[in-house]
Amino acid sequence: MKSLICEKPYQLNYIEQDMPKVQPHELLVKVASVGICGTDIHAYTGKQPFFSYPRVLGHELCGTVCETGAQVDETFVIGDKVALIPYVACYECPSCKSGKTNCCENISVIGVHQDGGFCEYITVPQTNVLKVNGVDNATAALIEPFAISAHSIRRADIKLGEAVLVVGAGPIGLGAAAIAAADGANVVVADTQKERRDHVTSELQLPTLNPMDEDFHVQLQALFGGTLAQTVIDATGNPHAMNNAVNHIRHGGKIVFVGLFKGNLEISDPDFHKKETTLMGSRNATQEDFSKVQQLMTKGLLTANMMLTHSFEFETIGTIYEEQVVNNKELLKGVINFA
Ligand SMILES: [Zn+2]
Ligand SMILES: [Zn+2]
Repeated sequence: MKSLICEKPYQLNYIEQDMPKVQPHELLVKVASVGICGTDIHAYTGKQPFFSYPRVLGHELCGTVCETGAQVDETFVIGDKVALIPYVACYECPSCKSGKTNCCENISVIGVHQDGGFCEYITVPQTNVLKVNGVDNATAALIEPFAISAHSIRRADIKLGEAVLVVGAGPIGLGAAAIAAADGANVVVADTQKERRDHVTSELQLPTLNPMDEDFHVQLQALFGGTLAQTVIDATGNPHAMNNAVNHIRHGGKIVFVGLFKGNLEISDPDFHKKETTLMGSRNATQEDFSKVQQLMTKGLLTANMMLTHSFEFETIGTIYEEQVVNNKELLKGVINFA
């Protein structure tokens, strides 16, 4: 079978590999579509910390079951379409024991710490896939970024009618906005880039604002019936935006940081305190978040077009990766399709 391997930074090569052997608890999956994540770009440019080469990238994928291991139960049959849960938790650390497998101290991610889906076939434990029969390939492949978004919404414990401001209309922000809206929240999306605001208008049909506007808070209050946001989901990973989040919430409000940056936050403590702010981080996703996304996808409430801007073919992606993925300023989310 053909694999696309990242030998070292700036070097992607197609190689012929033996078909992986199915272990008793595993499924053999013929890959149909793989999403391209920021991690896959940072690994290519050598900017992914603690990353080891060579590595087959790709952790956002869906495909078809073509062989089942001896111990796989009958819920999975050959021909099922499945989407990957790429997180392999240890189930032994304190975090896992408290149910927070998403922030396992020893987490391993398929496609990051072990070989992933930029290849024709992959074996995965039965516990690391969800059935997505009836969901189109591009949508199913994006289950992981949508699950990260879903986790941030679950962290915030968003209620029907809640005034939610999503800051940052990258893939995770778009997913968060779509899921909050599906949950019945009153959602506004803020992004400094006009192209991204236009994407929100056309693909999510949600109101947008430019946070650089001088009267941003006036506009925000107008959209929320006269008050600031009850909840801010920040998906920017931008220090300026994150330091500013406390200014967008009303007294008693919540902030969830799902985007991250390398550095220190600097938040006005009087503002933080007077509002009795609840501030949370959000990392990865749990089985529960993946299941929620699976259900929303099955109902047609989450679709690839909400994030997706570019589609590529597996046969050619290796040669155009740098030009059309890494250096493509217009790329919001891309998927690679297999023949
Ligand atoms: Zn990802
Ligand atoms: Zn653990």
